Amino acid sequence: MNNFTYERLHNNLQCLKLDTIEEILDNYLELAAKDSKTTMEVLDHLLEQERKHRDAAAINRRMKSAVFPVKKTLEEFDFEFQPSVDKTVIKDLSTLRFVHNTENIVLLGPPGVGKSHLAVALGMEAVKAGFSVYFVNAGNLIERLKKANREGVFEKKMRDFTKYKLLIIDEMGYLPFDEEGAHCLFQLISKRYEKSSTIFTSNKSYGEWGEIFQDHVIAAAVLDRILHHCTTINIKGESYRLKERKRQGIKTVIPYT
Ligand code: ADP
Ligand code: MG
Repeated sequence: MNNFTYERLHNNLQCLKLDTIEEILDNYLELAAKDSKTTMEVLDHLLEQERKHRDAAAINRRMKSAVFPVKKTLEEFDFEFQPSVDKTVIKDLSTLRFVHNTENIVLLGPPGVGKSHLAVALGMEAVKAGFSVYFVNAGNLIERLKKANREGVFEKKMRDFTKYKLLIIDEMGYLPFDEEGAHCLFQLISKRYEKSSTIFTSNKSYGEWGEIFQDHVIAAAVLDRILHHCTTINIKGESYRLKERKRQGIKTVIPYT
């Protein structure tokens, strides 16, 4: 290969933004020559490396823009500690058929039982599978929608929140919504209905959602849309945080007994 060909090859790789190939090309061509690789093998290897790097970069980008508050995985979830969570149901959800089918998930239960953990873990699976995901706290979401409403950019904000294939709305019900907030959320849920999936977590049972919305008619209309295609996971059990505290407590007590 003469200098002109070498330079043009590198220039073209840069122009075509084949950055990984550009980076590994020289070393790999040397190795390939030693190993007597065929042209097909060389092309296959180089393109495969480029694709792998691009996929990994895209996952990283989506992982960042999902703004998960913490990283949690399904492997880290102790199903034995929380027997009310059916492992086969979670495994089935982790196939992400629910995202393909634009279905919802609602995780209900008292504080500390792993609702947010499971929501984040399923969200991370969705990111890895190529879906756009966004995690948001319910109170924060309502404030942002209300602000957009006041500033006359509600429709734009709605489009922003509607574009995600999976939206995770965490902590429904820790604080009740006022009338404007309830209407904003109702509109978002209606817009996403049967178009994309949403995961909700809440410490309030469905019967108590009227209190969250402070309006039983809106709460019923919201639940009607959410539950039409939905898996509910009702977690009944002890707080994992409490278990950890107890374990730490036992540890500190033992040396003195
Ligand atoms: P919730 O959202 O239900 O209030 P979290 O999901 O925030 O609870 O869980 C509280 C903490 O306990 C988190 O650090 C979470 O990772 C951990 N945790 C909860 N349940 C489990 C579990 N079954 N296995 C492992 N860790 C868990
Ligand atoms: Mg939580």
